[in-house]
Amino acid sequence: MTELLSPAGQQALRNFITPSTLFAFDLDGTLAPIVDDPTAARTPSEVRDGLRKLAQLAVTAVITGRSCSDALPRLGFQPQYLVGNHGNEGLPGSDDQASSLAELILHWQQQLQHQMSPESWGALYVEQKSSSLSLHYRHALQREEVHAQLLAAIDRLTPTPRRVGGKFVENLLPPEAPHKGDALLRLMEHSGCPNALFVGDDETDEDVFRLRDRRIFSICVGTQRPTAAAYYLHDQNAMPHALELMIALLRSN
Ligand SMILES: [Mg+2]
Repeated sequence: MTELLSPAGQQALRNFITPSTLFAFDLDGTLAPIVDDPTAARTPSEVRDGLRKLAQLAVTAVITGRSCSDALPRLGFQPQYLVGNHGNEGLPGSDDQASSLAELILHWQQQLQHQMSPESWGALYVEQKSSSLSLHYRHALQREEVHAQLLAAIDRLTPTPRRVGGKFVENLLPPEAPHKGDALLRLMEHSGCPNALFVGDDETDEDVFRLRDRRIFSICVGTQRPTAAAYYLHDQNAMPHALELMIALLRSN
């Protein structure tokens, strides 16, 4: 893995991007710092400024685990594409099938509540979205115990969900749901962009990184976790600098 802001990383980026590159980003932990209270997450002003400039120069996308309506006010800029629920919402050319998904999500939630102890269930922050269910255990005092119970309960769910782990969160998606990698490929097709850059920080973003598609420049934020991305940024604080670099390269193109 190469650090994006190193001379070699910058050169690789210079060789890759053109004005028709699609610039796609995860939100939490990538554009916005992870905060204890997920409802307080916001993109910092330097990141916003960079994104607004970038959006004037190229096609931009945000692919997030949040619902679109939850994500948009946190962004502070309007990307051409906003895809929510880990690839399930807002993807051009797909029906959201909202009502049947909402029923499935509710059904899973009831099963989990039934299977876990009241203490463990009560320690979770349950985020019910239109087409996915996020179970946060960040604030549980007995974090490991709650997580173990949660995983055991998830294993017994019917129908079996697609489970995607994250930072103190388990996300449950419909079994046939597109993942972030599918979503990015669909956006490339829809936009006509021949290549794409994607920046993400979490397990759900690995679905993009694992594509190992030569048309995709993959950047992982943080170095704590094994990743299939080819490039990395040390942490989320490096994001404004990375955006400046992208903007400068686009302007010189
Ligand atoms: Mg993230």
